[in-house]
Amino acid sequence: MPVDSTATGLGETHAVTNVASELEDYNLYRCDTALVEAVAREGGGWGHEELSDFGAQIGQADYLQLGQLANRYPPELATHDRFGRRIDEVRYHPAYHRLMATAIQNGLHSAPWTHPRSGAHVVRGAKVFMHSQVEAGHGCPITMSFASIPSLRAQPELAALWEPKVLARDYGPRNVPAEQKRAVTVGMGMTEKQGGSDVRANSTVAQALGEAGGGQLYALTGHKWFLSAPMCDLFLVLAQTGAGVSCFLVPRWLPDGAKNALNVIRLKDKMGNKSNASSEVEFRGAQGWLVGEEGRGVATIIEMVSLTRFDCMGSSAGLMRAGLANVIHHCSQRAAFGARLIDQPLMKNVLADLGLEYEGGIAFAMRMARALDRREQDPHEANLLRLATAVGKYWNCKRAPAHSYEVMECIGGSGVMEDSIFPRLYREAVINPIWEGSGNVQCLDVLRAMSKSPAVVHSFLSECDQARGGHAALDAHLDRLSQTVQGLARLDPDQMQFGARALVEDMALAFQSALLVRHAPNGVSDAFCASRLNSRGQHNYGNLPQGTDVDGILERADPARHTAWPVQGDQAA
Ligand SMILES: Cc1cc2nc3c(=O)[nH]c(=O)nc-3n(C[C@H](O)[C@H](O)[C@H](O)COP(=O)(O)OP(=O)(O)OC[C@H]3O[C@@H](n4cnc5c(N)ncnc54)[C@H](O)[C@@H]3O)c2cc1C
Repeated sequence: MPVDSTATGLGETHAVTNVASELEDYNLYRCDTALVEAVAREGGGWGHEELSDFGAQIGQADYLQLGQLANRYPPELATHDRFGRRIDEVRYHPAYHRLMATAIQNGLHSAPWTHPRSGAHVVRGAKVFMHSQVEAGHGCPITMSFASIPSLRAQPELAALWEPKVLARDYGPRNVPAEQKRAVTVGMGMTEKQGGSDVRANSTVAQALGEAGGGQLYALTGHKWFLSAPMCDLFLVLAQTGAGVSCFLVPRWLPDGAKNALNVIRLKDKMGNKSNASSEVEFRGAQGWLVGEEGRGVATIIEMVSLTRFDCMGSSAGLMRAGLANVIHHCSQRAAFGARLIDQPLMKNVLADLGLEYEGGIAFAMRMARALDRREQDPHEANLLRLATAVGKYWNCKRAPAHSYEVMECIGGSGVMEDSIFPRLYREAVINPIWEGSGNVQCLDVLRAMSKSPAVVHSFLSECDQARGGHAALDAHLDRLSQTVQGLARLDPDQMQFGARALVEDMALAFQSALLVRHAPNGVSDAFCASRLNSRGQHNYGNLPQGTDVDGILERADPARHTAWPVQGDQAA
């Protein structure tokens, strides 16, 4: 006779205790003190309510789940329909479409262009930053669409034609000609097999179909080794003309309803950023309009590239915030050896250190958002933007992988399980430093900007100098940095390049420390300066000095805490 295990209790092997709950149903804005303060300080305080509504919406349990789904069920390419007609269609999980729709409805691709006002980039940047905590892959076409606007404007008649559809708060994923849609998205094609960073090596060629020149139609022949989000309706693409590398606006469908000769060869099998399709494509005489002048392609597309770098900086800070919030939530609930993990002195050291990294990352990104907002009125801001965007893209992206890894270790074995957010954060963190200009390319860009314009160097150093007197280690660091910068003139180009990472890392730490000294509580800035200014990139988490205000740092980072406004630093826009 079968044993009734329920009745006897034999079916119960153990009680599930001492495990954490999912971090969900929380407000990604209000629970983030460092973010709320940065938004206020950098001129976006008018957006608190809007940001809070957005943070509450995307922190709902079912919304957070979209991030898991969109990555667990990655997009698939159908090159042909069942009758054999070429369609080049990428099919996504519905979760991806919901993420895209939310981003677009909330103006993550458009707000500073459609509603320009002081602080517009700060508020939009904060939304992008929060949404990247839910899911990062969909952010690629959102960022590219947002960033395409200044480049499109290099050809006013093309901008007049397409801008309203690029900026519309309407998501149109249908695979039909852009003429039939109210809204479109924009991708970017630069990287080829023989060279990505060095786009001058591009082999794709473009030939005028009639008259040559800006706004005219050309035929492109060649390939791109990477073209992300191939379901975008338009792409800004680099190709060679007789005058050199030039920039073209290539539609996926032609105005007459025919498919443009832009074939998707296959999708990349990536380690991360799974929800976002990245493809290899061939142009077989694909039609595209020249944007700007022939031979000025790099100058035309660089505006787009520098805005995508800004978003990379923010989204890497977002990955750090997502890891930090989740790990604090976990360690507040999980106990070992008789005490909660968050109360264990060594774990406190590690967690507070992760918190400091995030504080530096978000302060940097939001300061750059302010520079974007004010670049046209204030040369200091334009100079900062030119130099510090490359520094911040390098540094925030470089710090995020180690941060995500350390978060996994704090969680323990469950931290590497695919049904959690942690492996996804780690995989995203590894990609951000590579695309939109890899680490070395950023460092070389810093050298280029510094050698071209003493004014950008002056702006950078004078911004840092505003924190002088706030911390002895920072003062000493700034003295050293200033000497290094003066000494650059004595180095030959090889020596300069050889030492570029050390220089950029010193600059990044100076900038972050100065922001924290000026604006964060003393407990945060003291610990940041004491732990980082003498160790550069060698800093391993959990090495904060005795006496650090770990409780104060952790309280600021705790997702269970709600920040109210107005906060210190709130500025009228
Ligand atoms: C997920 C993903 C999506 C992408 N999507 C797109 C896209 O949509 N559109 C697009 O155009 N590209 C895209 N890319 C490509 C990406 O931008 C390139 O991979 C990147 O620019 C580097 O180019 P590369 O791969 O050819 O490497 P290389 O250019 O060969 O560089 C390799 C390494 O050498 C370093 N290096 C290069 N020059 C120097 C130098 N002078 N001194 C020292 N070091 C140097 C670089 O920093 C890098 O670390 C994507 C990449 C990824 C991973």
